[in-house]
Amino acid sequence: MIEPFLSANPVLRKLEDAGYEAYFVGGSVRDYLLKRRISDVDIAASATPDEVKAIFPKTVDIGIEHGTVLVLFNGGSYEVTTFRTEAEYQDYRRPKEVAFIRNLQEDLKRRDFTMNAIAMDRNGKLIDPFDGQTAIRDKIIQTVGKAEERFGEDALRMLRAVRFLSQLAFTIEKDTIKALIKQIDLLKNIAVERKKAEFEKLLNGKNQKEAIKVLLDTNLFLYLPGLATKKRQLKQLLNFQCESLNKNEMWSILLFCLEIKEKSAGTFLREWRMPIKDIREIQKMLLFLEKRLQHEWSVYDLYRAGHDNILSVEKLYVVINGIRETDSMDHWLDLYENLPIKHVADINVTGNDVMKWLDKSGGPWLKVTLLRIEAAIVAGELENNKQKIKEWLLTCSPN
Ligand code: ATP
Ligand code: MG
Repeated sequence: MIEPFLSANPVLRKLEDAGYEAYFVGGSVRDYLLKRRISDVDIAASATPDEVKAIFPKTVDIGIEHGTVLVLFNGGSYEVTTFRTEAEYQDYRRPKEVAFIRNLQEDLKRRDFTMNAIAMDRNGKLIDPFDGQTAIRDKIIQTVGKAEERFGEDALRMLRAVRFLSQLAFTIEKDTIKALIKQIDLLKNIAVERKKAEFEKLLNGKNQKEAIKVLLDTNLFLYLPGLATKKRQLKQLLNFQCESLNKNEMWSILLFCLEIKEKSAGTFLREWRMPIKDIREIQKMLLFLEKRLQHEWSVYDLYRAGHDNILSVEKLYVVINGIRETDSMDHWLDLYENLPIKHVADINVTGNDVMKWLDKSGGPWLKVTLLRIEAAIVAGELENNKQKIKEWLLTCSPN
C-alpha cells in the first residue's frame, strides 16, 4: 500500500474496531489503479455520521445531509461518508435526501461510472462488483447500470463523463454516449455551481481538445453558461496547446477565444458564479494580454500588472502565438524585479507630506499628484527619496 492510503489506514482500522465496515472508494482507488497522482482519499463506512463522530474526537460537519463528516486524525483530514443510496431523484437532479444504509454493494451501485465504483479495504483488497478494473484497463467510461436511467437520475453525470474523458484520455462507451446525446437536454436542470466544478476540471485535463470536440459534437456546450451562441469561437480553443496553463489562465484563453474582452468578462464569469477574486484576476490577465498582443510591455504596465500577472500573460502569449517558451519571459520578469518600487506603498512620501509641502488641503488633485510621482519613479525619472521628491514637486510640478 502507498501514501496517502497508508496515513489513512488507522482511520479505517478505528472504524472497524468499533464494529463498522470501512473502505477507500471513488477517485482515489481509480487513480491508484491508474498509477495517477492521488489527490485525496475518500472513505466510505457503514457508520452513520453520528456514529463516526462518536469514534473520533475531532470532526467537522462538512456535508452531514449527504452523510459526510471530515475526520481530523494524526495531522491529516479525511472525508468519511456513510454508505448511502439515492433512491429518489427529483427533476433530474441529485436527490434532495439520501438514505443511509449498511451495505457497501448498494453504495457502489449509486456511483456514476464503473471505474469510480471500486472499493479497497485497508489490506489493499479490491471490491469491484461492476468490473471497474476492466473499464480502467480498456480506458472506458461506462455508467454503473443503464446509462439512460443514470443520466436521468442526475444529468450532471453527462458532463462528468466528458470531464473524465478530458482528465484520463478515456473514451465514452457506446451506449453511454448514445444516452448522453439523447438526454442532453436534461442538463438544463443542473445548477451552475455543479457544472462549473466539472467544466474547470475538463478545461484543465490533458485531453482537453478531445473533450471540447465532444462538447461540440453532442451539443453539450449549449447547456454551459455563455457558450450557446459561441460554437465557432469555442472551436478556436482547438488551435492552442494549453497544457501549461493553470485554472484562471485557462479561463482567460477561453474568453480570448470567445472574443470576450476585459470589460464584458465580468458578466460572463458572473454567470458561471465565479468568485470576485478570480473575476478580477482573469480580467487583469485579459487587459494586459490584449496590450501585449499589440506591443511589448511598457515599464508602467509591468508595474501595474505585477509579477504573477506578467507571468500569466507571457504564458498566454506563448500559447496564442504557438511559439516555444522564449527568453522574453525572463526578460520582462527581470525588468519587473528591477523596478524602483513594486507598489504605491513603497513610495517614500505620504499624502500628508505632499499637502504640507504644497500648502493645500486634500482633494482630487492629491490623487493625481501621487499618481504622477508614482509614474515618474517607475519610469526612472525621479528617485524614490523624500527630499528628491519634494524638490521635484516644488520645481517641476505645475501644482
Ligand atoms: P477527482 O479525482 O476529480 O476528485 P472523483 O472521482 O474523486 O474525481 P468526485 O467528484 O470527488 O470525483 O466524486 C467522488 C466519487 O463520488 C466519485 O468517484 C463517484 O464514485 C461518486 N460521485 C461523485 N459525483 C457523482 C454523481 N453525480 N453521481 C454518482 N456518483 C458520483
Ligand atoms: Mg474526489
